[in-house]
Parts: sequence; structure tokens; C-alpha cells
Amino acid sequence: MNSILQQDLNDFENILEKAKQQGIEFLNNLDTISTSNKATTDPNQMLNEFGLGSLETLKEFNERLAPLMVSSPGPRYLGFVTGGSTPASIAGDWLASIYDQNTQAIKAQGGASALIEFETINLLLQLLALPDTFLGGFVTGATMSNFTCLGVARQWFGKQSGKDFAKEGISETIHILTATPHSSSVKCLSMLGIGSQNYTVVKTIEGNREAIDVIDLEEKIKQLNGKPFILISSAGTVNTADFDDFTAIGKLREKYNFWWHIDAAFGGFAAVSDKFKHLVEGWEGADSITIDCHKWLNVPYESAFYLIKKEHVSLQIETFQNSNAPYLGNPLENFNYLNVLPENSRRLRALPAWFSLKAYGKEGYKDIIENSTALALHFGNALIEAEGFELMAPIRLNNVCFTLKGNHNQENVSEFLARLNDKGKVFMTPTVYQNRKGIRASFVNWRTTEHDIKIIIEEMKETLLDLDI
Ligand SMILES: *Cc1c(COP(=O)(O)O)cnc(C)c1O
Repeated sequence: MNSILQQDLNDFENILEKAKQQGIEFLNNLDTISTSNKATTDPNQMLNEFGLGSLETLKEFNERLAPLMVSSPGPRYLGFVTGGSTPASIAGDWLASIYDQNTQAIKAQGGASALIEFETINLLLQLLALPDTFLGGFVTGATMSNFTCLGVARQWFGKQSGKDFAKEGISETIHILTATPHSSSVKCLSMLGIGSQNYTVVKTIEGNREAIDVIDLEEKIKQLNGKPFILISSAGTVNTADFDDFTAIGKLREKYNFWWHIDAAFGGFAAVSDKFKHLVEGWEGADSITIDCHKWLNVPYESAFYLIKKEHVSLQIETFQNSNAPYLGNPLENFNYLNVLPENSRRLRALPAWFSLKAYGKEGYKDIIENSTALALHFGNALIEAEGFELMAPIRLNNVCFTLKGNHNQENVSEFLARLNDKGKVFMTPTVYQNRKGIRASFVNWRTTEHDIKIIIEEMKETLLDLDI
């Protein structure tokens, strides 16, 4: 063994202890660590001939690279839809690295850690009040979940005319209907060879809505003259957290032949609260659903899962099977994740979610969801009181889409946000909604409190003054 490796092996406990201390310090100071920074790295770093050993490497990391770390698991990081990490999920995440399993099979001499993944999916189905007619698995994020689901949808589409697209390639136009797809779904159409511009945009409901207009949807379906299609629907659009009407879509399924996919990356968690579960009513009728865990479940990146109806498992295997040999036996008995999703080797990605679900239960998650949604409303009210701002859409769940008051201020929105983010107390994302520049604040972090909103509003008022708006 290399001598430096040997030395590290002897000193393992001390190394992990130092890393732990450092982690605790970061987490204990999330409140004061900046949400933005301007640190850079040295692009000419050379690889050492001889290693430094872990402790020296940690020192170098702290000197040069740790300053790049922003308070993204902190309470005022409202950009994108960034969840934090619960204590239990961090413990689970550490252990996933330490156990370092290759999570593929549920029955194998080389390890059966996929049973833990099955168990976790089952807990998630209970949390979201979904039936066990779905089979699920973990992937890195909602983008890969959409990819997995739409990959199977693509195979389904080919089968409607007796073709095997997975084997033969795509030989006919695949019809996709969608109203407000997330950019990642459009990216998936590109990655799947369907084409990022090859989808038909269905109207949204009149007024300040991003949800699909079911009447226009039926019109567009009729124009297809009985051809099959794939519907990409939304449970929580990023700008305004709007939801398609799943009960109405479910009724259309009785009349028309389509694959129904729901992108519920964060919005699916509406199911956890009695106050919001009506938003996802009827979603169990879908063929496939995408849900992120690194958002509202508050587990560390990278974590999401897909749910695909068990009845489609053969299509799923045709799409992702790792060899050309025919699949032997009952796929659910000899189940192996490597045949049903993009990755072959996989970490035990379910473990952080398993820890967190066990540690906090239904009630813990209901509290997180209802705290986030209450804070979104609180922030919306505080914005109006602060003057100088206007909401761009009603606050339906946890995302607040707003802008500077008045059209004359449209030209100041980018500068305002850049300055606000620069100050490092809060981070939000720019957006465009109904052709106007806006800002999005997303509440999903379990740590955020009313006190944070107070700090954020003060920072925003100060930034208005700085810019003389
Ligand atoms: C965040 C998000 C995605 C993409 O998720 P990643 O985890 O970043 O891959 C897809 N759809 C919706 C609705 C989202 O909010």
C-alpha cells in the first residue's frame, strides 16, 4: 500500500472527526454564512507528485476552496427550489458513502441493498398517499426522473403501432402535448431524440394561470385524429406553483389513448397536507410521476425518484435493459435497478430519505410543508406592506413570484436582484412571467422562520433605497 494511504488508514478516525467538526461548524453558522460570494479558484493548479494526506488536503481545501461554499442549505437561500438537509438525512447520506454499496439487486450474493430502496419508495408512497400500483426508484434529480419516465413513454408510443423504438430507433413523429413544461422536460425531449421543439403547446386557463386548459387540451387531442400521444402535465409549475386539473385529465383517459406523465418535482408534497392535498386529487391515475427529494423532502443533493405504474415494467425494461439478452423470469422477482433506469452503478441514494422519513414521520413532513406555505404567504403580505413591489401571481403554495412595482421599473429588476443577492443575506432567482421580468422566492427549507422574512424584507427595502427606486 502507498505509504500516505497507509498513514491515512491509521489516522482514519481523526480525519473523519476533523471533517465532522468542520461540518458542524458550517451548519451551526448557516445563519451568518453568505448566500453568495465572489471567490474564485486557481485555474493552474498542478496535481502533486506526492500526496498531501487527508489532513493537509483538508487544510488546503479550507484555505482555497471552502470560501466558495455559500449558505445554500441555509434558511434564506430561496433561489431555484433549494431544500436544506434535515439532521437525519445528513446522517443517512454520510452512511451511504461509508457503506458504499452498489445498489442494484434485491436478491444477490453481491448485496441486496435495493431492498432498502424498495422500502423507502414504499414509505414515500405512504407519505404522498399514493397506491402501491407504482414501482419507483431513485435517480439524481427531477431531470433524470423526467428522463426515465419519458423514456418509457417513448417506448409505449412506439408499441401503439407495433414498433420497438428502443431497439429500432424512432421511426415516426411522437406527439407530445403540454401546457407549461419545466425546462428539464424539454431538455429530456432533446436527450430522448424526440426533439426539444417537437411538442404542441396547449393553452393555459385564462387569467393568471399556468395550469392546462382542459377544453383546449381536448381540442388538440381531436386534431390528432385518434393517434396516441404523451401528455406532460404539471403538479407545481416553478413560477406560480400552479397545478393541472388531474381529475379532468383522468376523465379524458377514458376517451383517449395517451401516456400521462406528471412532473410533481416539488408540488407533489401538497399531498402531505390536508390543506393542499386537493391540488393533486386524481394524480394516482397517471402512468408516471416525477418527484424530487432534494427539494421539499429536505435531503442533500442529489436525490429524486420516479414512479411508474407496475403494469409498464416490461416497457421499462425494454427501454433500459443493460444487455440484449432477453429478460429471464418474472421482472419483479429478479428485480435489478440496472435494467429499469439510466444508471448501472448506483450509490445507496435512498438512505438519506429513509433516515429522514423514519426520523420525522408524516407529522414532521406535514409541519415542514405547512411552515413553508405559511411563510410564502407571510412573505407575500410583507412585500405588499413594504411598498415598491407587486405580486405577479397569487401565492398558491410555496413559491412567490413578484417584481418591482410598475412597468417603468422593469428595467431595474435585474440590477435590483443582482444587488440584493450580492449582499449575501438572501438569494433569489430571476424569472420571466407573462413577458415581464420578475423574481422568484421559493420556500422549501425546514429551517426558515418568520424572523428570516423580517431580515429579507429589510434587505430588500435597503436595496430599493440604494438604487433610488
Ligand atoms: C426542479 C424541477 C425540475 C428539475 O429538477 P432537478 O432536480 O434540478 O433535476 C423539474 N421539474 C420541476 C417542476 C422542478 O421544480
